Amino acid sequence: MEYQIALLPGDGIGPEIVREAKKVLEKIGNVYGHAFSFREALVGGAAIDATGAPLPQETLRIVRESNAVLMGSVGGDAKNPATARWYQVDPKLRPEAGLLGLRKGLGLFANLRPAYLYPQLADACPLKKETVPGGFDMVIVRELTGGLYFGERGTQTVDGVRRAFDTCVYDEKEIRRVAVKAFDIAMKRGRKLLSVDKHNVLDTSRLWRQVVEEVGADYPQVALSHMYVDNCAMQLVHDPGAFDVVVTDNMFGDILSDEASMITGSIGMLPSASLNETKFGVYEPSHGSAPDIAGKGIANPIATILSAALLLRYSLDLEEEAKAVEAAVEKALEAGYRTADIAGVGTVAGQAAADGGGISTGQMGDVIAGCIG
Ligand code: NAD
Repeated sequence: MEYQIALLPGDGIGPEIVREAKKVLEKIGNVYGHAFSFREALVGGAAIDATGAPLPQETLRIVRESNAVLMGSVGGDAKNPATARWYQVDPKLRPEAGLLGLRKGLGLFANLRPAYLYPQLADACPLKKETVPGGFDMVIVRELTGGLYFGERGTQTVDGVRRAFDTCVYDEKEIRRVAVKAFDIAMKRGRKLLSVDKHNVLDTSRLWRQVVEEVGADYPQVALSHMYVDNCAMQLVHDPGAFDVVVTDNMFGDILSDEASMITGSIGMLPSASLNETKFGVYEPSHGSAPDIAGKGIANPIATILSAALLLRYSLDLEEEAKAVEAAVEKALEAGYRTADIAGVGTVAGQAAADGGGISTGQMGDVIAGCIG
């Protein structure tokens, strides 16, 4: 089978880490007999420099002709003279607008943020060992295009007093489509789904819970439960091993997914996916463009490589291949290979120290590709 994949390396460490994920996909293609055809396109600051726009029409065209998109990251440092020009313009023309434009243009309403504690990196977890005896492995599915961040808002001065408001609106269609995605993901994992809301206070949460239960009637094999968002924030640090698939609205998901990523202790390891109603998705690491280490060859490519695994699973339905990538990452960690950001964490026989504080981005890509097949 032939698959079209758009590569959008973006800025900062983006080109370095996307190169390694491509290497891993090429190895998967060789081992499992798939033809991946890659087309590279510009986004973010790199696109601004070349065309004046953070999301050129040409990029959208290439993306629309592809089965899925693998992205690096966009953005620079507004205080750094090398990238300050990207920020001295209308916010709609800044690098980050490229990412928002992509989400809007492709109707990407479901954001998947897995958080997994590798046994080999358990020392990086900021929680006490007793709190995570068996580690944790969860996916937070965040609604991405509705709710509080997109409702009517304003600031006024009434009788000399300043007031501001933001409105949270959801309709049942928006809730239903993200719930369907979350149930589908639960079917591919442990058949457990937790819906998080603030049902005791918010009307949007009451509708949310009703619609999620209606969708649940079509998935009798999935055990559905509900939790208030404040309790969820506590439980994530009290017993993260109890979570599997979590679905929640835009703002709650924004906060909870950052909390879940923090307790893994390693930002360079976390993938993400943004999906629409079809199989199409944009896959990218959860971290940013890390301008402080760009061009040094020391960035950790694992989050991007794991994003490629999600691409295989959710856009191409290649579950065995996705698992092969995840197993290869684990094998590399087990053998003691570490990039600088995780150097010294649970390493075998001080390998990272012997390598002068960690292996390079390219070496990590080679090791992981070498663990496949
Ligand atoms: P960041 O995630 O880029 O970096 C935070 C810290 O983590 C830095 O010290 C960085 O060196 C380190 N880090 C991040 N990824 C790493 C990796 N793979 N390997 C090793 N170390 C890694 O966050 P930031 O500094 O707040 O943002 C930098 C830029 O990225 C900004 O322009 C921001 O707008 C942008 N950004 C983009 C995205 C995206 O494209 N989706 C997401 C977040 C931030």
